[in-house]
Amino acid sequence: MEAISRHPYAEFLRIEMMPNIWCSGCRIGRIKNAFIEAVQHLGYDPDKCTVVSGIGCSSRIAGYLNLDSIHATHGRAIPTALGVKLAKPHLKVTVMGGDGDILGIGGNHFLALGRHGHDINVFCMNNYGYSMTGFQHGPTTPLGARTITTSGGSPYAPVNPVAVALAAGYTFVARSTSSHPYHLLDCMISAMKNAGPSFVEILIPCMLFERRNKIKSLEGLFLEKAIIKETLNEKDIEQTDFTKEISLGIFRDAPIGQRPQLSLVKSAKKGAAKKYHIDFESRASDIEYMQIRMEGTGGQGIVQGGKTMINAAMNMDPNLNSTMTKRYGPEMKGGSCLTDVLLSAQPIDYPFVEVPDLLLMMSDIVAKERGGEIIVNKNGTIVADESMVDLSLLEKVPSTVKVFKLPATRIARENFRVVVANNVMMGFVCKVTSIIDKNCIRAAILKSAPPGTEEMNLAAFDKGYEFGESCNRDS
Ligand code: SF4
Repeated sequence: MEAISRHPYAEFLRIEMMPNIWCSGCRIGRIKNAFIEAVQHLGYDPDKCTVVSGIGCSSRIAGYLNLDSIHATHGRAIPTALGVKLAKPHLKVTVMGGDGDILGIGGNHFLALGRHGHDINVFCMNNYGYSMTGFQHGPTTPLGARTITTSGGSPYAPVNPVAVALAAGYTFVARSTSSHPYHLLDCMISAMKNAGPSFVEILIPCMLFERRNKIKSLEGLFLEKAIIKETLNEKDIEQTDFTKEISLGIFRDAPIGQRPQLSLVKSAKKGAAKKYHIDFESRASDIEYMQIRMEGTGGQGIVQGGKTMINAAMNMDPNLNSTMTKRYGPEMKGGSCLTDVLLSAQPIDYPFVEVPDLLLMMSDIVAKERGGEIIVNKNGTIVADESMVDLSLLEKVPSTVKVFKLPATRIARENFRVVVANNVMMGFVCKVTSIIDKNCIRAAILKSAPPGTEEMNLAAFDKGYEFGESCNRDS
């Protein structure tokens, strides 16, 4: 332990986690060190760097680095990293993991990150199989290679990580190996500088692969066959045949802005916020614990309504804890659907609403599926769309429950389009309950409204709000 504390990277390591679990002679440690060097070289504050990994030998890196890290579930490193990046855009977020985790179990997330263009680095250590569990065949296992699940030799053509990353739209794509530490460091630094999705494939030798395939030294093969190139072309993408040369280098380093970036989309919305006079200041809310449920029929914007409420609550009080869950019946328009939103001053340990304090009924399908029972807190509030709800159901709720009725769907149909009835409901709820500030909800609606529909969605909200004003006057 004392020797570890004298290690030049000791401050970047969780010494209490040592010794590591890697096989003696495994090269994953080199990659961990290269990452630390890249962070130091770029002068990044370690407190602003986050590493996320899934499951596997190389995914253990996240646990050994002394910075904020998440050891996520198998294949889910990229969506977890995405959550971190969206919540804290100022953080430098890196995913580190193996070929099985990133390209196998997490393959679809890998494609989505390239398409969506978020500024996240993916450093994928390719050891050609699932090594932590004894070396099963994985997506990059070479044709004919022996693993414990392909003892006669893999019959499948392997996935080429670089080709997939290029096709998916990663704006930086490179290949290196654990046997070329300086080249690897250069690739990592360039990837981390890129303001978009970056991918580096890092070939690493695994002893289990070597033993099973009677290869004396994969590292020796990498050193013999790999060639670092300044410029690469299509034929350099190939790498799985160890009898031929392996090209290392940068396959793509696209200028920022060549693909749509989230920040650009956001700034367009900022301009729209000015146009629609949406200006809000965050403030501490007095919400202690509130359970909100919106229920209705698929196609009525029930999930969108939940998103609007949760975004609005976060706009209003960023310190508020919140969760949103959704449940569908049959996955089709016309099926039952509900969204639960929890807002709490304390951390939330159970994300579902048990008894709503505020129940928004866009239709009565959910209540009818329960035999007409309406679940609501006895001191709670119901807002029902009288164009869509059988009002006789409301006669059964205790008299202590406040009940508001508004013809949200009729208002939307007569003035706009039926699809914005949920925002008519939002405007009404905003006025009659005052739970969330008006401009915070308008900002949330603007954020999610598809381009070109902002005006209609906000006008629907305003109409509902006006209806709430008249309702307050009348009561
Ligand atoms: S099984 Fe392979 S990849 Fe895993 S620690 Fe051992 S040598 Fe490294």
